[in-house]
Amino acid sequence: MNLFRILILGMLVWFVLRVLKSWRVDISPRDQPPPRRRENAEQDRFEPMAQCKICGVHLPQRALALSGRCGACERAA
Ligand SMILES: [Zn+2]
Repeated sequence: MNLFRILILGMLVWFVLRVLKSWRVDISPRDQPPPRRRENAEQDRFEPMAQCKICGVHLPQRALALSGRCGACERAA
């Protein structure tokens, strides 16, 4: 009878450890994304802004023409 109890207790501990392990696997990717992916996300969020030299509108830097003008001023020129 005592041996049976130890066996049940052992199975219970094994089961709890297995459940905890599976939880950790499910949670960890959400809590700590890979550093490279997080860096890319920050770059997307904080894109450098630039001002059009002619009309003064603020646009993402890559949206301005090489001359420093926005699309509308570029077409008007
Ligand atoms: Zn402009």
